[in-house]
Amino acid sequence: MSAHKAKKKFGQNFLVDERIIADIINAIHPEPEDNMVEIGPGLGALTRPLLKRLNHLHVVEIDRDIIALLENDYPQDKENSKLIIHAGDALEFDFARLGTPLRIVGNLPYNISSPLLFHFATYADRITDMHFMLQNEVVERMVAAPSTPEYGRLSVMLQYRFHMEKLLDVPPESFRPAPKVDSAIVRMVPLPASEIAVRNEKLFAAIVRTAFGQRRKTLRNTLRSYLEETNFEMLGINPQFRAENLSVADFAKVANYLDEKA
Ligand code: SAM
Repeated sequence: MSAHKAKKKFGQNFLVDERIIADIINAIHPEPEDNMVEIGPGLGALTRPLLKRLNHLHVVEIDRDIIALLENDYPQDKENSKLIIHAGDALEFDFARLGTPLRIVGNLPYNISSPLLFHFATYADRITDMHFMLQNEVVERMVAAPSTPEYGRLSVMLQYRFHMEKLLDVPPESFRPAPKVDSAIVRMVPLPASEIAVRNEKLFAAIVRTAFGQRRKTLRNTLRSYLEETNFEMLGINPQFRAENLSVADFAKVANYLDEKA
């Protein structure tokens, strides 16, 4: 498979560091019966060791040249192929097709990582866990605590549904070609439904988006179309605060309050 030339448009940076690959596989801890899908198998750096431990593995890959290479190694006409190849865009893939519970893994194309994360989040109730390689800066934003510069819309919109943990730093030299940025492995585990405090997800998402739309401004300003001075008082939230000062629970409290009032 080494003749393949990496394509920038598909965010192709292939893992070559065997130690990092082993660390990732250990972190994923695949069990033979797992129902797992890998996003963007590429030249198989993670796919091959995963297949050693799993009975079956689904992969979703967009690059036709790579799909041809995979099909050559794992003929799909055989009824019992261990690797099940889904050709297409992971952003449009219906993960419900793969059954439940599902584990998702992948060294993601960095150019579409945020939309991919939001797409996966819509399947949270069918997912056991997810392990991803992402740009380190994105992982820092995912796990950020309130009142830090990294805390923003991505943190809040993922933290209300997932427990997230940064597991591993991965330097650029671990890839070919080497990306310009540092990378990291993150684990995402959906919170049980009973722990999700948000009642109206659409309203919650709209409030978070509006508040962080102008993150330097006070909430009195950014949320003026949602909350009056008395509402801030009722909620016990300081209107002089900015979006970054609100915890995920605070955002949930605002959304639930407005949902009840409506
Ligand atoms: N897993 C391999 C590895 O670790 O070496 C490749 C990782 S590379 C960073 C990203 C992979 O995702 C590539 O194989 C690329 O073709 C694929 N890809 C890019 N955009 C995609 C999309 N929208 N849907 C599915 N796969 C995509």
